[in-house]
Amino acid sequence: MNTITIQAPAVATKRTTKEWQQADAAHFMHPFTDFGALAKKGSRIITRAEGIYLWDSDGHKILDAMSGLWCVNVGYGQQALVDAATRQMKELPFYNAFFQTATPPAIELAELLAQVSPPQFKHVFFAGSGSEGNDTVVRMVRRYWDILGQPERQIIIGRKNGYHGSTMAGASLGGMSYMHAQGGLPIPNIVHIDQPYAFENGKGMDTAEFGKLAASWLEAKILELGADKVAAFIGEPVQGAGGVIVPPSTYWPEIQRICDKYGILLVSDEVICGFGRTGNWFGCETMGFKPDLMTFAKGVTSGYIPLGGVMVGDRMAKVLIEQGGDFNHGYTYSGHPVACAVALANIKLIQQLKLVEHVRDDVGPYLAEHFAGLREHPLVGSTETCGLMGAILLVKDKAKGLPFASDLEVGMLCRSHCFANGLIMRAVGDRMIIAPPLVMTRSQIDEMMALIRRCLDLTLADVRAKGWF
Ligand SMILES: *Cc1c(COP(=O)(O)O)cnc(C)c1O
Repeated sequence: MNTITIQAPAVATKRTTKEWQQADAAHFMHPFTDFGALAKKGSRIITRAEGIYLWDSDGHKILDAMSGLWCVNVGYGQQALVDAATRQMKELPFYNAFFQTATPPAIELAELLAQVSPPQFKHVFFAGSGSEGNDTVVRMVRRYWDILGQPERQIIIGRKNGYHGSTMAGASLGGMSYMHAQGGLPIPNIVHIDQPYAFENGKGMDTAEFGKLAASWLEAKILELGADKVAAFIGEPVQGAGGVIVPPSTYWPEIQRICDKYGILLVSDEVICGFGRTGNWFGCETMGFKPDLMTFAKGVTSGYIPLGGVMVGDRMAKVLIEQGGDFNHGYTYSGHPVACAVALANIKLIQQLKLVEHVRDDVGPYLAEHFAGLREHPLVGSTETCGLMGAILLVKDKAKGLPFASDLEVGMLCRSHCFANGLIMRAVGDRMIIAPPLVMTRSQIDEMMALIRRCLDLTLADVRAKGWF
């Protein structure tokens, strides 16, 4: 053999926390970060993980109630995923799928994804991430209408405070105004309607009524634009990065009805909600709608390796396959064999451990009960959960439903207490959110709830001391 054997480098050299932070600040530009501010403060260096826990470079143990970044559904340290990657790397570390070729892991994963997806999905287009998956959505949706001779159907409707990734198309589909403000976004022919967030957009309304009202904004937008100009609507079944906003149960069926009425494609961004998070394989099943496309990433490999893609429903697959000709789109890593091998092992593990049922029947309801119990806390205005994701809204006056002034950054204050007390809970404004690994047990939820209560109490003491409460 002509391969040269070299000593594998240690996974990382040993350095002190300070040394890591200095090298980090000198060279590593982090995503969604104020580079200058972080360089002064220093990053927290995470070095190891097991189950639902992380350890930092100072040896602190941290309960990861965010599953990394909404992705480590099977928890850390699953040997089956490690073995799948190792075996595939030895056998065939890479081959592409461009030139009329395919690899066994990509084919088998496509087959398995079709099995676990709702029945209208038998085909998949692979990408490297959720953002790339949503770029594919834009290309595929517009191509579909071109093939059908309706090229004027260009506009895709998303939602304010929706999140669909950070590429040009992903950030455009998303409705984060602070992202649009940088880089001249959105790209043309992407527009947004308001989100189904009752606390901001439906104060005092009956929940079911509000769900229908929020869905009616889609119909109003379609009529304003002209139905013959609208290609698709995209949304997350439950908004994740926007703050775990669970829509009323009346919302999605009404969205479905409106899309059907005008023949508009319906896209479910399942990057967070997919692979058991909501107590079903996909969030659209929990929310009761039948999309034409589903974007996935994150939980498909439990984050062990990057992979994303789009499930393509029969309505679109038929046209693309039978009438489409060449589709001039794809990525070097579409169907990467190692990523696909890890995804196969991950999905099989979700099946073996019955994690979807575990969330639906056991820990999901258990979390819901405990989050509801938090509403007695003086700081907590409301809580909501869906499967194993949840949000706690911190408010100034719960009787009147008054929020804190946003410049007080009460959510960030709470988050810093979590950080200091060994809990990863994220703040989106004053919404404290969690999405823990699906392998979590009831006793681990008890442990997490104790940490959450302690951090809420510390935050309450702070806002009282500052005279904000
Ligand atoms: C994270 C996320 C994305 C983007 O995925 P990346 O892998 O970060 O590109 C897209 N949509 C949703 C709903 C997400 O949560």
